[in-house]
Amino acid sequence: MLTVRDLSYSYRQTHALNGISLEIGPGVYGLLGPNGAGKSTLMKCCVGLLPFRDGEIIINRRPVTAGNNSYKRLVGYLPQYFDVMDFTSVERNVIYAAWAHGVKRDAIPGAVREILEITDLTSKKNAMARSLSGGMRQRLGIACALVHRPRVALLDEPTVGLDPLQRAGIRQLLMQLAKDSSIIVSTHLVEDLVGVANRVLVMNAGRLTFDGAIPDLEHLGADHPSPGLNQLECGYQAALNLPALA
Ligand code: ADP
Repeated sequence: MLTVRDLSYSYRQTHALNGISLEIGPGVYGLLGPNGAGKSTLMKCCVGLLPFRDGEIIINRRPVTAGNNSYKRLVGYLPQYFDVMDFTSVERNVIYAAWAHGVKRDAIPGAVREILEITDLTSKKNAMARSLSGGMRQRLGIACALVHRPRVALLDEPTVGLDPLQRAGIRQLLMQLAKDSSIIVSTHLVEDLVGVANRVLVMNAGRLTFDGAIPDLEHLGADHPSPGLNQLECGYQAALNLPALA
């Protein structure tokens, strides 16, 4: 569904991405890395928001390039900081997102109903967006990003600022959505990915330093024990120091 080949990107002096390559099918993918690792930059390149010149990105056989809009309906993106229309209802926010993502007029009511159900917002559909709690607002953001049922969804730190119960709710939601899509979720919390992510990608300083399943990361941790950290956290620490994958 998503292929990234040898992707590099620089903001003036900062080399944010250095030769990233990955291949992604359906499932939940955790994109882990410290602040500044390049996670957001990678996501923005994948949705065509940053005009990269080095490397290529292909979504369902369609290249992500300026002037080619054919991939856009296949992609959903939730930025780390997003706006909702506070002055109107939850449902109207999602209707607008469906329209903006190109859902056909007669398919909009069904698509909206379905995503409100999945994100557990049906009972709130008439509430003003400004009245939502943090967790519900995050779910509204996810509903707006996914109402057109993209093949590839990129969610930038969707659990930031949420309490543990709300984070668990989002994890459940992602698992449900990943049945027929690729969901890439960035986070710097390893525990956000346990029981959810089929695969973990670790980035550091613009490079992909680990690509494997949660048990692989745990195995890595077993070989690099560190006092005060559990095995998975040790694996993450170790992954940050690995050289870039070929
Ligand atoms: P992450 O999402 O992992 O925190 P980012 O992709 O936001 O990382 O940032 C990667 C690098 O690019 C960092 O060094 C960051 O300072 C730099 N960077 C990000 N956005 C910009 C920008 N708009 N202008 C200049 N540098 C940027």
